[in-house]
Amino acid sequence: MAPIVNVSEYERLKATGELPSPKGVALAIIRKTREENLSLADLGAVIKTDPAFVARLIKAANGLVCGVRRPAASVQDALMVVGLPAVRTMALGFSLISSYRSGRCDGFDYEHFWSHSLLMGLAAQAITLRTRAAPADEVFCLGLLASVGELALATLYPDDYGQVIKEQQSLVDIPLADLEARRFALNHSELTAAMLADWQFPVVFCEAAGGFETLERNELALGSRELTLARTLMLSAQTARICLAHPADRAHLMQALLRLGNHLDLDEEALLALCDQVVAEWRVWGALLSVGFSEVPPFGELARVATELPPRDGTSSAPSTNAAAPELPGATGLRVVVADDDPATRSLLRGVLERAGHQVFEAVDGRKGLELALEIQPQMMIIDWVLPQMDGLELTRSLRQTRIGRGIYVLMLTSQDDDERLIEAFENGADDFVNKPLRPRVLAARLRAGQRVICLQQAIQKDQEEIRHFAAELAVTNRRLQQVALTDPLTGFPNRRYAVDRMQQEWASSTRTWRPMCCMVIDIDQFKAVNDSYGHDVGDQVLSQGAAAIKRSLRAQDVISRTGGDEFLVICPDTTMEAALVCAERIRRSVEIMSINVGDQVLRVTISVGVAVRDRTMPDPDVLIKRADEGAYVAKAQGRNRVAALQIADASKSLLASVAGERG
Ligand code: GH3
Ligand code: MG
Repeated sequence: MAPIVNVSEYERLKATGELPSPKGVALAIIRKTREENLSLADLGAVIKTDPAFVARLIKAANGLVCGVRRPAASVQDALMVVGLPAVRTMALGFSLISSYRSGRCDGFDYEHFWSHSLLMGLAAQAITLRTRAAPADEVFCLGLLASVGELALATLYPDDYGQVIKEQQSLVDIPLADLEARRFALNHSELTAAMLADWQFPVVFCEAAGGFETLERNELALGSRELTLARTLMLSAQTARICLAHPADRAHLMQALLRLGNHLDLDEEALLALCDQVVAEWRVWGALLSVGFSEVPPFGELARVATELPPRDGTSSAPSTNAAAPELPGATGLRVVVADDDPATRSLLRGVLERAGHQVFEAVDGRKGLELALEIQPQMMIIDWVLPQMDGLELTRSLRQTRIGRGIYVLMLTSQDDDERLIEAFENGADDFVNKPLRPRVLAARLRAGQRVICLQQAIQKDQEEIRHFAAELAVTNRRLQQVALTDPLTGFPNRRYAVDRMQQEWASSTRTWRPMCCMVIDIDQFKAVNDSYGHDVGDQVLSQGAAAIKRSLRAQDVISRTGGDEFLVICPDTTMEAALVCAERIRRSVEIMSINVGDQVLRVTISVGVAVRDRTMPDPDVLIKRADEGAYVAKAQGRNRVAALQIADASKSLLASVAGERG
């Protein structure tokens, strides 16, 4: 999912020596961690030459020890806790912060950049301590450097990048990466991914950093580590955005934060506590790294204010740009119908559902629930067991009998933990149940489980729709190709390939029914001369008008094909020689009388026709065609513009009998 990196362009940028890179002691630490027979004592010795790094390392190690161990007090202790990969990337990150605290790019806010990066690192670490998608200390470095491509562009192209930033501030709806892509060979996400890869971050980290800003355009497998890390970075970025936003804007950003937390299975309470912890750490780390920080009210307070805000719509005056985090693929809010006669339960459910970003529709009895379901077509229904008009079981059963209702995820509310009732609920089509009285956290967890199932169902449905769509397109294309493959474009008649197949079919049919069958070979007379005298285009015109005249003279059952340049084959099923000769003569005559206007001249052409009838001696249809062909040859030999049939001659024991037309 990471943007495809233009490797040669990255190598070119690297060769300039201008890309941000670690310096001094950090560089020595990074080199040391790559040595094969490294001893921790040796590494410790290098680290101790930089007291600031020692303090940061010990702080990082203690941030990861969750009360089980005694805190790390020495470099050695800290190294044991964080491990080599994390030491390497911390050295890198901290070195970059010290070396690139300011720079030449005017529009680039270096201070803001590092505050944002530090917040992202801390948030990513705190989230990962819960999701366990990767070692949390390494994810701290991932968060810290997840936007390093921006710093790189500001360092490489200070003037141009300053302009891009100004442009983005005036065109808020266009993502920064798109503006960068227009101006430079790589945008900041691509550059971040390339730099992290160059610094030997794990591949999934590079992909997450390169793709988290455009996650809505990427399709990642549900449950994959890439998706979890990318979502972690999205949530971290939103946390950082809230911390650094103007105080008046913070509450407006909370709904997106809660939604992103929901996507990572973090319930609201845990997420708000996590964000408060990030703010506390930010203060400590900010002092340690000399990175700016500001006061942020408790996140619980921001969440409360957020619930009192008017809903955001087109008329709202609340700031709208860059505020909401993008929707995740397949995880948009669901339409949920709640069928319960108790207003208190409905209100509780509405609260939990709306906080999770879902749209709620209420029904006060079973019958209304069914009607609403068929009208709204929700993805989920929460149905109370006991309902007026139609109880929960009956409602579920009725739903399952409809096409719309079959796909709805049904969560049943039950009052008692009775195994028999639960089994009955499942047998009637329920997908899951929740016991009453409702506990919001359990309910929210059940909702998330349901949402996962719905997401998977939607993904399968989408795949199936795509397959159906492709199959239909393929069928149409195949039909077209088949038609093209069997049709002569000039006359619109079927071509030789078709004629051969069709001849086989008619032959088989004649074998089955004992009915007679004939065929004719028609060839235009002296056609080369037409081409030679008037040109190929006029030749084409003669061919298509001649073909049309022939077609007009055929009977309904006759099948004509263009089998060669100026040659046609007519298959005449269920036809005797006498009938075929009459038809052939009609065709010959219709061409003979046809006049073709070429400029101010009038052109005339004639045809020679050979006719043959199937007889007992013929082993296959090729022989029948050959006999008709010989007839045409004889017609030519006799002076053209006539119809000839060798079998008549055979029958009369003469060499040749011909049914000649009068020459005009
Ligand atoms: P004959 O009376 O013995 O049939 O003499 P002919 O000149 O018609 O000789 P023949 O049937 O062998 O010549 C067919 C000519 O048709 C040769 C070729 O240049 C021409 N031809 C074949 N396909 C096309 C076509 O698509 N368009 C045009 N304009 N000419 C074609
Ligand atoms: Mg010819």
